[in-house]
Amino acid sequence: MQQDTSHMDPRESEMASQAYLQQLKATFDQLPNEIPLYLFTAKGHEDVFTHANREVIRAFRQLSNKITLREYDLDHELAKKWKVTHSPTLLIAPEKYAIQWLGAPMGEEARTFLEILILIGMGKSQLSDQSLKVIKRIDSDRRVKIFVSPTCPYCPQQAINAVKAAIEMPDRVSLEIIDIQSEPELADQYSAQSVPQAFANDVLIGQGAQPEEVFVFSLEKLEAQTIFIPESDAELIETDLLIVGGGPAGLTAGIYAVRSGMRTAIVERDALGGQVATTPIVENYPGFTSVGGKSLVDIMVSHALQYVQIFQGEAVVDIQPGPPFTVKTNRRQFHSKTILLATGASHRHLNIPGEARLSGRGVSYCSTCDGPLFKNKKVVMVGGGNSAVTEALHLFHMGIDVTLIHRRDKLRAQEFLAQQLFDNNISILWDTEVKEIRGEERVNEVLLFNHKTEETTEFKTDGVFIAIGYTPAVELAQQIGLEINEDGYIKQDGKHRTTLPGVYSAGDVEGGYKQIVTASGQGAEAAMSIFEDLINPYWLDGQN
Ligand code: NAP
Repeated sequence: MQQDTSHMDPRESEMASQAYLQQLKATFDQLPNEIPLYLFTAKGHEDVFTHANREVIRAFRQLSNKITLREYDLDHELAKKWKVTHSPTLLIAPEKYAIQWLGAPMGEEARTFLEILILIGMGKSQLSDQSLKVIKRIDSDRRVKIFVSPTCPYCPQQAINAVKAAIEMPDRVSLEIIDIQSEPELADQYSAQSVPQAFANDVLIGQGAQPEEVFVFSLEKLEAQTIFIPESDAELIETDLLIVGGGPAGLTAGIYAVRSGMRTAIVERDALGGQVATTPIVENYPGFTSVGGKSLVDIMVSHALQYVQIFQGEAVVDIQPGPPFTVKTNRRQFHSKTILLATGASHRHLNIPGEARLSGRGVSYCSTCDGPLFKNKKVVMVGGGNSAVTEALHLFHMGIDVTLIHRRDKLRAQEFLAQQLFDNNISILWDTEVKEIRGEERVNEVLLFNHKTEETTEFKTDGVFIAIGYTPAVELAQQIGLEINEDGYIKQDGKHRTTLPGVYSAGDVEGGYKQIVTASGQGAEAAMSIFEDLINPYWLDGQN
């Protein structure tokens, strides 16, 4: 929530923090409504979450006296009135809205909390026009539960979607934001072993963060929706360059493009930062000897925001030919002279029995998000590259019993990382493939096959973390007819021009070394190519 100032010298950092606080205070000053908070705790039950609530609320109350806190025991009549049964539960403006927070707004969730406070203070949901049209169609009650964790960068987006719905329709939509660490039994009851997960009336309506309109549509239908196409009256924005993807490549391209004078926008469907946002620790980005992936992303995003407008939570649903291209997202339309596809890559799947069925039920692709739920439990990490080793170490340091399973007898990961695995005596099963993931409601074992011994064995485990590389996200590229090379990446000419005039690529979607620093480099190069081409459009050669 706090601006990341770890890269500045202490005086600079102190000044930046003060400026940020003043800005927040000014924002709260302008809010028309009071923000009453009610904290309910079981008598004599003081846990880390209760303390965290008090700490976080105290910090926010220093910003504004509009925020008030009252504390009650769980057996108080107000608890009955507002149907509070868990300790601690934080209620936010309960006279007006049915929003409960089970646990405490810590870590990433502090961002959600800040946004809730501002929305409540404004007394407005801030739902987009497109979402409003859909939510107005809901004519029966929706009891929403969003499972979150403090280390999940995707969670705030989904939690805020639900908060906006609860503010817009206070008589119809009730909401519980549930921290899986504070409420492991509840998470267990819903078999919610990955975050965020959204339920409405006990039906799973969303796994992972959804764009706001997709969430509201899923809430209306009581079924997970994957796409939302806006009506034709959606807002129109004109740009020289539209960047699709807000990872290191897209963010860097945004900075370079605006500095060159191009009207530029970035759209990002999920969390900004792409894979980096969920990388526990980065140790090879110049300038930072060791930095949390999410912190690095925050620094990049705040830098990019000084130049370029970022539309987060927007998925591109259609691109009509150009230039200029018409690009439709779930919320608006862009007319853009050029497009840069920096869509990155998505997790590769094992494609074995049980994997899809138990996804979110013990099968996970994000150790930073879902790791906390497996504390003191036993998990396996599948893979032998940098990701698998970094994430196995992360889980190990969280107190999780982790076994790495690798299909060969040598790791692909860098020596430096591999050595840390050995130094910590983390178990490794070599030459072993996972053939099946088993469990009824949730994972309880994997079926393993060892190539050398040709033995098949069963291995008990509570979770299966999979980090076996990434598949380039080329769906959009294919949709608009770009040529894809034999390795599955977007084909480009060395200057990031794809086979379609006016469309460019950068980052993991075009292959290469797939490092943060190379993705950023490709983003910068692509922006410079685009700038040159806009001055002298090669696609108009011979037409003048
Ligand atoms: P990766 O380097 O492609 O490694 C994938 C690993 O998964 C390999 O060990 C591979 O086995 C294994 N694998 C692939 N398909 C499999 C399957 N179907 N079943 C079982 N195992 C399978 O992927 P990554 O580790 O996700 O890294 C992606 C990129 O990000 C890399 O360029 C990496 O350097 C970079 N990265 C860097 C850092 C860092 O520098 N700190 C951290 C994370 C990622 P084989 O070895 O047998 O092929």
